[in-house]
Amino acid sequence: MGRHYKGVADALALLHRAAEAERQWAVCAATLPDESKRQLFRQWWAEASVAQAAGRYVRSCPRYLRGLTCGAKKKDGTHCRSTTLCANGRCKFHGGASTGPRTPEGRARAIENLKLDRLKRGNS
Ligand SMILES: [Zn+2]
Repeated sequence: MGRHYKGVADALALLHRAAEAERQWAVCAATLPDESKRQLFRQWWAEASVAQAAGRYVRSCPRYLRGLTCGAKKKDGTHCRSTTLCANGRCKFHGGASTGPRTPEGRARAIENLKLDRLKRGNS
């Protein structure tokens, strides 16, 4: 066989090695404590939201992060088992309150909405 074939074989081997490394990483990541997984989840979320904003391909959540629970300690001493997580790796009940708009544009928009609402209700 010629050099071309060898190049393809090398590329395939490289691809195979990368897939194998990815698989091993997934196995290793699956055994990580939830706290570390939550960190990975936040990383993935940040990446995904940047990609979505830029209209690029959004990588789906890695399999080893699926089924990650919120894990917040509840009043009764048990841990929250919700798997529907937000940006911070917690569920909608345990993410903490929103601190409101941060950018000047966001603040202006909020004030506009407030004014509109007051106009609609007729008590300015
Ligand atoms: Zn929760």
